[in-house]
Amino acid sequence: LTVGIGYDVHRFAKNRRLVLAGVEVPHHLGLLGHSDADVLTHAIIDALLGAAALGDIGQHFPDTDPRYQGVSSLQLLEQVKCLICDKGFAIINIDATVILQQPKLAPVILKMRNRLAEVLEIGLEQVSIKAKTNEGLGFVGREEGVAALAVSELREL
Ligand SMILES: [Zn+2]
Repeated sequence: LTVGIGYDVHRFAKNRRLVLAGVEVPHHLGLLGHSDADVLTHAIIDALLGAAALGDIGQHFPDTDPRYQGVSSLQLLEQVKCLICDKGFAIINIDATVILQQPKLAPVILKMRNRLAEVLEIGLEQVSIKAKTNEGLGFVGREEGVAALAVSELREL
């Protein structure tokens, strides 16, 4: 068994969408980034790549590459699924935490889990997503951005 960790941060900006785990969440601000800035999916990608010792998201999908401009991060996740499968690993589970002051994610968490499970072709019970505020502290508390952490465990096939 191998374990990987992932972390990501994106800045809030006007006239951008807030996309988390491929689900567009209604909010007056969105996240800034080269792709759709899906901070949660990015942290999960790094956790999966890390568990397979395959480097990080920036190595595989450089933000200088025009192919990834505005791309759905779920497409990147799907490519990572193939990479880890080719390396002989299967996903045991993913556990992730999104840290943001607003909006409340409780109404969309199940949808987010379903979206990830579908892309990764694993069961819903293998994907856990939690959301919490930062108690008003720091850049998350000031609503300047969103952070995400993820852990994944893989087994060799
Ligand atoms: Zn990112």
